[in-house]
Amino acid sequence: MTPLMHAVYKAKIDMCRLLLRHGADVNCNEHEHGYTALMFAGLSGSKEITWMMLEAGAETDVVNSVGRTAAQMAAFVGQHDCVTIINNFFPRERLDYYTKPQGLDKEPKLPAKLAGPLHKIITTTNLHPVKIVLLVKENPLLAEVEALLKCCRVLDLICEKCMKQREMNEVLAIKMHYISCIFQKCINFLKEREDKLDGLIKSLLKGRDTDGFPVYQEKFIRECIRKFPYCEATLLQQLVRSIAPVEIGSDPTAFSVLTQAITGQVGFVDAEFCTTCGEKGADKRCSVCKMVIYCDQNCQKIHWFTHKKVCKILKDVHEKQELEAAKEKRRQEKKRERDEAQAASLSPTNEEQSDHPPEATEEVDSHHAVKRTEESVLNKQPSAPQLHLDNHSESETNLADIAVQKVQESEE
Ligand SMILES: [Zn+2]
Ligand SMILES: [Zn+2]
Repeated sequence: MTPLMHAVYKAKIDMCRLLLRHGADVNCNEHEHGYTALMFAGLSGSKEITWMMLEAGAETDVVNSVGRTAAQMAAFVGQHDCVTIINNFFPRERLDYYTKPQGLDKEPKLPAKLAGPLHKIITTTNLHPVKIVLLVKENPLLAEVEALLKCCRVLDLICEKCMKQREMNEVLAIKMHYISCIFQKCINFLKEREDKLDGLIKSLLKGRDTDGFPVYQEKFIRECIRKFPYCEATLLQQLVRSIAPVEIGSDPTAFSVLTQAITGQVGFVDAEFCTTCGEKGADKRCSVCKMVIYCDQNCQKIHWFTHKKVCKILKDVHEKQELEAAKEKRRQEKKRERDEAQAASLSPTNEEQSDHPPEATEEVDSHHAVKRTEESVLNKQPSAPQLHLDNHSESETNLADIAVQKVQESEE
């Protein structure tokens, strides 16, 4: 191991910085098993150091003596945040390549002014289609047909390169293809619809009447995956295998499967992600139904046009769940009392058996019960909507405005 590898593995940030500044080779892989500094970074679990190695020019597709990349090594030891960072890193220089005319081109494929906004989207770890459309929409340079067409072309070229280079990068290829598909949809809406990108956002969010499940979004993401041009890709086949048997409206959603494949995120719980834009760490709940969660009032407003149709239905579902959770809790308590009483009355000769409480058979159940109880604790709040948050006068969005409230930390 080189000194840099040691420093990385022990997560000594200052030492890493010092060594890099003095010319340590970030891509040296003369380690006896072909490990690189980036692989050690992934193993160490330090997000900062992983990022530092990437910025210093660490190659992501180098493999060690057993044919594993740094991302695969990190995933193997459960360092999923490092996997996410490695998989979503895309050096700006690789994009800037397209801002200069190449070969016989008279013009660059990508106008220099688009490189920044496009790079921002390429490196995002939130792949929610609404989030990506919002990123397009917020940048006037990007939100027009000609610019998006150029970006699509560049994304498709990067995708092709990822698949054709010797060390294939299927993750990046699928990500580029997926973003390109979203841009293509943006182009269609900009051309054909009067409400432009707002129309696309609405289509992506529109929920079906019964439960508010966004059918168009699900179908759109499935179609993106299906349209990936390299059918032989292992990752594509994995995605198709996980999604194909799932009925639309059931779990896992195409979005969660795709996110997991690309970012390496596991344990995808809805509780933490914004219903509108998929941003992590959302903590504002609709105060009426308590079943959807948002980053802020803005995200809630965008979603309200469709959520208002199912908010009441979801409220009933939620109340039923709370009731059931309470019942379940009581049942569990009674059972525990009974078990304890039984254990106490057991004779010493039976002690061996009493060492094993009947937990095993309850495992699945109790897991659910715990989750539901947690939820009910989380939502133990006054049932009337909070009216003090805003004083908007718009009658249509009024409920949306007032219906957001911060999730309180559970006391237990
Ligand atoms: Zn949001
Ligand atoms: Zn609601």
